[in-house]
Amino acid sequence: MRLIAGNWKMNGLQAEGLALARAVADAIRGAPPLGAEALICPPATLLASVGAAIAGTGLALGGQDCSPEAKGAFTGDVSAAMLADLGCRYVIVGHSERRQFRGETDAAVAKKAAAAQAAGLHAIVCVGERGDERARGAAQTIVLGQMAGSLPADIDPTRLVVAYEPVWAIGSGRTPTPAEIAEIHGALRHWLGERFGSIGSGIRLLYGGSVTPANAAAILAVPAVDGSLVGGASLKASDFIGIIRAAA
Ligand code: PEP
Repeated sequence: MRLIAGNWKMNGLQAEGLALARAVADAIRGAPPLGAEALICPPATLLASVGAAIAGTGLALGGQDCSPEAKGAFTGDVSAAMLADLGCRYVIVGHSERRQFRGETDAAVAKKAAAAQAAGLHAIVCVGERGDERARGAAQTIVLGQMAGSLPADIDPTRLVVAYEPVWAIGSGRTPTPAEIAEIHGALRHWLGERFGSIGSGIRLLYGGSVTPANAAAILAVPAVDGSLVGGASLKASDFIGIIRAAA
């Protein structure tokens, strides 16, 4: 089933986060989307309240990041087990904002993906090239390199989701052309097939970067696109619902 994941990033205090979650939940309750799974990834501080607000609606809950460690003296970290304990089913790891602003390497992302799965979560592993990398024709090489480095050796492919998010498309209003998305998703699909055999074809490949209700249908129609990771548009209930409906 396709997956539409909303990444709220560091946005929302309790009142607005709850209002947004309730608006999305109400729309889903009224007319459940067929053929698409919808996921909300609020900031860690909102997981409990948003989780309660969406309980029983079919909307899934996810974290935006997790510690590579299971527990202990890691001040400020949130473990994958803590996310699972709050009802999360998914966690995003290796988002480009964490790679860029928090210095996360492929190896660090692989450790987080392993920690996520050890806690029973599905890991959404993000990869994507910068604008300068695309400009010099290195997009595919960069993305496949990140993919290879960001998966732990013992990753469970049945609890893996991959998100292709070109860094230059995130929050910019610019998107790759359908042909450019098809090229990268095709390369990722091929790589996953080589690594995991037939199971690789079942790993959902999400596209992320400036997806809106206006462009969602065209992007979701691209071969090997199994859903989307949505940032800005997930902060407006009607936009997020519009994207979910485009996938259903
Ligand atoms: C993201 O940050 O994961 C993202 C896709 O952001 P946006 O939709 O705002 O480009």
